[in-house]
Amino acid sequence: MQMYEAAELRKKWDSRPCSHPHVVSEYHRGTKTGDYVCTTCGDVGWGKNWPTEEAQHKLKE
Ligand SMILES: [Zn+2]
Repeated sequence: MQMYEAAELRKKWDSRPCSHPHVVSEYHRGTKTGDYVCTTCGDVGWGKNWPTEEAQHKLKE
């Protein structure tokens, strides 16, 4: 997914809660940024499993 598409998704999603069921590689034009984007809400994180790590982090708090 392109960076601008992720930005559009984030705008549309409007910070509602999301369980990030599916993430894909983020691209800036033809280049991978190394980040992964949630296809539902457009949230971006480092590494394919960031939604899982984020969920575990929330449980600990
Ligand atoms: Zn999400």
